[in-house]
Amino acid sequence: MSVRKIGVLTSGGDAPGMNAAIRAVVRTAQYYEIEVVGILRGYSGLLKGEFVEMNRRSVGDIIHRGGTILHTARCEEFKTEAGRALAVKNLQEAGIDGLVAIGGDGTFRGAMELHKLGVKVIGVPGTIDNDIEGTDYSIGFDTAVNTALEAINKIRDTATSHERISLVEVMGREAGCIALMSGLAGGAESILIPEKEGSIQEVCDRIIEGRNRGKLYSIIIVAEGAGNSMEIGKRIMEYTGLETRVTILGHIQRGGSPTALDRIIATRMGAGAVELLKDGVSGKAIGIQGQKIVAVDFTQAIAKMVRIDRELYDLALMLAK
Ligand code: ADP
Repeated sequence: MSVRKIGVLTSGGDAPGMNAAIRAVVRTAQYYEIEVVGILRGYSGLLKGEFVEMNRRSVGDIIHRGGTILHTARCEEFKTEAGRALAVKNLQEAGIDGLVAIGGDGTFRGAMELHKLGVKVIGVPGTIDNDIEGTDYSIGFDTAVNTALEAINKIRDTATSHERISLVEVMGREAGCIALMSGLAGGAESILIPEKEGSIQEVCDRIIEGRNRGKLYSIIIVAEGAGNSMEIGKRIMEYTGLETRVTILGHIQRGGSPTALDRIIATRMGAGAVELLKDGVSGKAIGIQGQKIVAVDFTQAIAKMVRIDRELYDLALMLAK
C-alpha cells in the first residue's frame, strides 16, 4: 500500500458541504485501513502542528452541517519557502504520507507547492464561487445559489407589492456564477457580473422598457465584483426616478445546511481523493464532469478561465422581458 496515514484539511473560505467531504475522506480511508489525521485551521494548523487523530466516529452527525468541523484559516506564512519547509517537516514527523486539501484556488496553489516538495497531495474543490477549472461544480456552490434564490424569492414578494426596483448583491468578487444561476432561477430582469461589461444605462433602459409594457417591479442581481451595489442602486434611482432598494446578502450565502447536490458531490469527491492517494497519485485536483469523477492537474484547476456560459446569460435576459 502506498499510503498508511493521510491528513485532511480545509482552507480558505468555508463552503457548505466541506463537512460531508471530510466525512467521506475519513470513512473511505478507514475502509482501506489508512489512518487519518485532521489538520485544524488549514495551512495555519499544518505549520503549528494542530493535528487530531480521526476515526469513523469523529465524523458522525456532520453530513448535514455547514461550515467545517476542522475550521479554516488563511495563512500568509505558508506562502513563504520557510513556511512550506516547516509544513513538510511537520507532516514527516507525524508520519503523514498523503494529504487531502479541501478549498479554493488559493488552497490548490498551496497544495501544488507541497506536491513540488514531494508531498503526496490531492485537492478537493470547496468554494461557493465555482471558479475552479476541470469541474462542473465545486462544493458549496449549489447551496449558495439556493440560499441566494430563497432570499431573491422573498425580496421579489416585497418588490412586487411595492412596485419597486430591488437590487440584490450576491457573492462573487471575480466570478459571476452565483449571480448568473440565482438570477436565472429567480427570474431576474438584469444580472451584472464581473466577467461582462454591463452598463447601468442598459439596466435602466430595461427597467423603463418593462414599465412601458406594464411590469411595475424589477429584480436586478449584482455580483460583488461587478461594482458597488449601493452606488449602482443610487444611479438607477436617479436615472429612472423609481424607488430602488439594495439588499446585500453577504455571508448568509456561505453558511447553512448543504443541499443534496453538494452533499453528494462532496461525498464522491472526498472518497475519490482517498482512492487516488491510495493508488499513489499526487498533484491533482478532483472534480466532477457530467456524472463522472475526474482528476485534473493543479495547473489546470487554477487556470481561472471565464466560466460564464454566455448562452445561459443571454437566455436569462431574453426570458426576463
Ligand atoms: P481559497 O482556497 O478559498 O481560494 P485563499 O486564496 O485565501 O482561499 O487561500 C487559502 C490559503 O492557501 C492561503 O491563506 C495560503 O495559506 C495558501 N495559498 C494561497 N495562495 C498560495 C500560493 N500562491 N502559494 C502557497 N500558498 C498559497
